[in-house]
Amino acid sequence: MSNPNHTTQSQQVITPRRAVTQYLSAERVAEIIQKRGIGACITGVASYINQDFLRWNSFDKCARVANHSDVGVIELMPIADDKSYAFKYVNGHPSNYRFNLPTVMAFGVLADVETGVPELVSELTLTTAIRTAAMSAVAARALARDNCKTMAIIGNGAQSDFQALAFHHLLGVEMFHLFDIDTAATDKLEANLRKMGLQTKRFASTKEAVKGVDIITTVTADKTNATIITPDMVEPGMHINGVGGDCPGKTELHADVLRMGPVFCEFEPQSRIEGDMQQMPADFPVTELWTVLSGKVVGRSSADQVTIFDSVGFALEDYSALRFMRDVAVEMGMSETLSLIPAMENPKNLFGFIGDHANTAQTSNPVKRTSPAFVS
Ligand code: NAD
Repeated sequence: MSNPNHTTQSQQVITPRRAVTQYLSAERVAEIIQKRGIGACITGVASYINQDFLRWNSFDKCARVANHSDVGVIELMPIADDKSYAFKYVNGHPSNYRFNLPTVMAFGVLADVETGVPELVSELTLTTAIRTAAMSAVAARALARDNCKTMAIIGNGAQSDFQALAFHHLLGVEMFHLFDIDTAATDKLEANLRKMGLQTKRFASTKEAVKGVDIITTVTADKTNATIITPDMVEPGMHINGVGGDCPGKTELHADVLRMGPVFCEFEPQSRIEGDMQQMPADFPVTELWTVLSGKVVGRSSADQVTIFDSVGFALEDYSALRFMRDVAVEMGMSETLSLIPAMENPKNLFGFIGDHANTAQTSNPVKRTSPAFVS
């Protein structure tokens, strides 16, 4: 006799869901930035980063997983809270210009923790530049002295334009001193910043470029322990935003520069391995930025103090940036969907999906423009 209370697993499904994955290509993200405005995007990502850093203890965090080769590194950066999981794939290959490829390329995923559905697959090359610049500016707002007007940018490659724009929009910096060993990179940065109405001066060395500025940003790419900034270049009250020394064996700041003032970082276990602080003993004091943003710790204690943000880039910044880009794409009706997960009437009949769809695979378009709303 059959049991009237017996239900099969499939009968227990209360609300059927479709595994819908949104997709943001590099072109689509460029279009969003163009329409929304680069300043608004950097400011928006900065605000998401700020909100998420204030929820620091809600996240399951780990240092990124890096695979190194003689010419570069490929890294995976996961993070999750109880709602969303994110990861970024990112590389760092400083000699990629030989192939006409960028040093840094990235893509990422935002997934639903409850079901594991990958809800968003997005480009993260452009978005990384925005989130790195936004992170630098969030840190500088908390650490630099008031009323900063001048910033030196050492390293004028792919990230540098975004750094300048973030410091202009979020801190009011008006004048940028530029230096790169590659004068063509400085030509590019100068032209882009002038087109955006920003003032620039170019210099023949790092030493000349940093003289008298409020903030020094180092964003060079080299797979060595380069020493871009030495103590003799640092003046009282300066804030140093060290962005490019972000791998084992790769630094930009002389060890004595790190001894000149309090050093702040994103996630200490990762920064100890990858940051400029890798040169320092394990007990060298450093402060995680979230403690300053949440008011637990004082950032700068006097106008004359030198402050140092030893940035390496942390997964939480990508989580924030993915959320921002997804929300804006949805709001602007610019999201597309990607056919990534097989859609099945019976989720246990994965095999059946092959027969149902083998003949349509040649002709179907994997990316479809959709209405802004998520399907759940
Ligand atoms: P890029 O190759 O486009 O530009 C780097 C520039 O640095 C080049 O123009 C190069 O000529 C210049 N340079 C190298 N050595 C120099 C020196 N001694 N003095 C002056 N200039 C020098 O690279 P990018 O995409 O702009 O990235 C720059 C760095 O930032 C990389 O190391 C990258 O890994 C790092 N990065 C960090 C974060 C973060 O969150 N901290 C995020 C993205 C990229």
